[in-house]
Amino acid sequence: MPSTASSLPFVKISRRGAKRLQDGHVWVYRSDIISADGVAPGSAVGVADERGKFLGTALYSSASQIAIRMLSDRAVSDLPAMVRERIQAAIRYREQVVRDTDAYRVVFSEADFLPGLIVDRYHDLLSMQILTQAMDAEPLRNLVVSELNSALKPAAISERVDPRIRELEQLPARASGLVVGEKTGTIFTMNGVRFHYEALEGQKTGAFLDQRENYAAAARYAHGEALDVFCYQGGFALHLAQLSSCSKVTGVDSSRPALEVADRNATLNGREIEWIEANAFDLLRDYADAGRRYDTIVLDPPAFAKNKSSLETALRGYKELNLRALKMLRSGGILVTCCCSYHVSPAQYLDVVRVSARDVHRNLRIVENRGQAKDHPILINVPETEYLKCLIVNVSN
Ligand code: SAH
Repeated sequence: MPSTASSLPFVKISRRGAKRLQDGHVWVYRSDIISADGVAPGSAVGVADERGKFLGTALYSSASQIAIRMLSDRAVSDLPAMVRERIQAAIRYREQVVRDTDAYRVVFSEADFLPGLIVDRYHDLLSMQILTQAMDAEPLRNLVVSELNSALKPAAISERVDPRIRELEQLPARASGLVVGEKTGTIFTMNGVRFHYEALEGQKTGAFLDQRENYAAAARYAHGEALDVFCYQGGFALHLAQLSSCSKVTGVDSSRPALEVADRNATLNGREIEWIEANAFDLLRDYADAGRRYDTIVLDPPAFAKNKSSLETALRGYKELNLRALKMLRSGGILVTCCCSYHVSPAQYLDVVRVSARDVHRNLRIVENRGQAKDHPILINVPETEYLKCLIVNVSN
């Protein structure tokens, strides 16, 4: 092994895996691992190709299909120092690109060169999520917490645990909870709109921070009677009620607890919004059949395509929603239509909207073709970091 490879254990990968890295991606799948002898789960490793050529330093998972997540194409001698620097860099990046909010994503995993770590800020609270064996290891986890604590001085840091991810990574079960401080609830403000945040027990809240810039954009064009479909805790609806000229705003979601928080958020902002608990597909069908009309409709469903095999079904679901919404919009109306499935490409989603418009004989003009907020950066060589589509279209005839 080359001398640059330091003292880390080595993982050897196939030619296909090496090609992927040379093309700039940062993942190597398990099927491309040739040998990982004696490598402990979650360790930092050197990566080499079949012939032993050094390709860089990575974090290794013994369980995930993504076996290797690259840290650098060089040797890394001081991992803690590198992690600290990268957290600092992630914070500085937000200082450059984040405006008008005290809630944003501080660290976005691969896109901040910290694979397996997500950190969100809600005013004075931080919430972190750990997604891999390597980030879960006690020394690294402690280092992350202490760095975030000293750099951002939050009132508290909590950890949000996704039990499914821990299972996939073969990590011992762990409960969500506070890791620093005592405070679990706060109020954050984005674009001048206020929201309740509760980190833990009871009615847990949190926002879709990736939509933050789209909320403000939607409010620029929204008018008249507005319907926010899949409204969750009211992200779009509250922005429309507060920042646009809408005469009436209605939010629809199937989750009663989400609507309860939405209503508290409306009160917090002194706004009147109508909340309807319903299955969005049923409600849109009934309303469209009944000839209801709106001037603004927002569609922001959950990810229908969780993997490639569910793509066709997902596309049908997206089409049905868009068809019904387009039918109900008055001429001059605005449709804000979003898709957060990575497996549906921007071109595919545009096509769903185009075909829906053709089927209902409406003319569409693209007012804005948008994506995720800038605190969810897209790493140019990692397509998986680009997932959110948000089209704002003007509907006529
Ligand atoms: N627009 C929201 C985020 C939506 S997340 C925001 O900006 O904050 C997706 C939401 O869809 C969740 O709140 C979930 O409860 C809701 N949902 C999922 N399936 C649904 C269905 N069939 N009908 C109505 N709501 C649904």
